[in-house]
Amino acid sequence: MKQLECRNVCVNYENTEAVKDVSFSVEEGDYICIVGENGSGKSTLLKAILGLEPIKFGKIKFGENVSKKDIGYLPQQSIIQKDFPASIWEVVLSGCLNNKGIHPFYSKKEKQKAEENINKLGLNDIKYKSYQELSGGQRQRVLLARALCATKKILLLDEPIAGLDPKVTKEMYKIIKKINQEGITIIMVSHDIRFALKNANKILHIRTKKEFFGLTEDYVKSDIGKTFIGGGEDA
Ligand code: ADP
Ligand code: MG
Repeated sequence: MKQLECRNVCVNYENTEAVKDVSFSVEEGDYICIVGENGSGKSTLLKAILGLEPIKFGKIKFGENVSKKDIGYLPQQSIIQKDFPASIWEVVLSGCLNNKGIHPFYSKKEKQKAEENINKLGLNDIKYKSYQELSGGQRQRVLLARALCATKKILLLDEPIAGLDPKVTKEMYKIIKKINQEGITIIMVSHDIRFALKNANKILHIRTKKEFFGLTEDYVKSDIGKTFIGGGEDA
């Protein structure tokens, strides 16, 4: 079932064309990696999908039973400052804000969801620790748990692995894969092309414009795929 469709999406920052004429669609259960060099518009495209950047032209259409509120988001640079004075529990729970209307308090159900995701990400033993005391890998797990609280359907992850050591990276990949296998659609910006090829069923390659969108197996055989893979990682 189609969950999201982007048609000819264009986003400008004043004089810069950041995203131009990008079209692709997302099916339930997809694991899509967005690849491309630095500055090619990947983060901007995610923000456009979330409605955080206005689109200049084109259309972003959600499928039936999907809305912006069903999307969990892990931004490229943490919106949560390093010195954010909150516990893991509070940071994760704040992901439930996405679904809140006018009610200022968290319901029992929301607290349960936060609890579940804390367990899923193996954070239970440290849940009352302060966010600022955590290592980079622990922080990313907290932010992933937080994003999971915001969705049952789609997760947008903007370079969730950047800056993590190899062991933690492997763990994060495993967790993301598991989340996908449990039925959540993943749209992830990744600078690690080898990982993208191994895990994603589809690849969107952009360089302001769309260079490729399709199955991973077809990307590997395409000219743009071969060139990009041959060049290694872009970062
Ligand atoms: P990527 O995530 O692929 O590295 P971005 O989406 O961050 O690329 O950026 C795409 C282009 O838009 C770049 O040229 C970048 O300099 C520009 N850009 C990104 N964010 C802003 C902003 N807030 N204001 C102005 N220009 C921006
Ligand atoms: Mg980016």
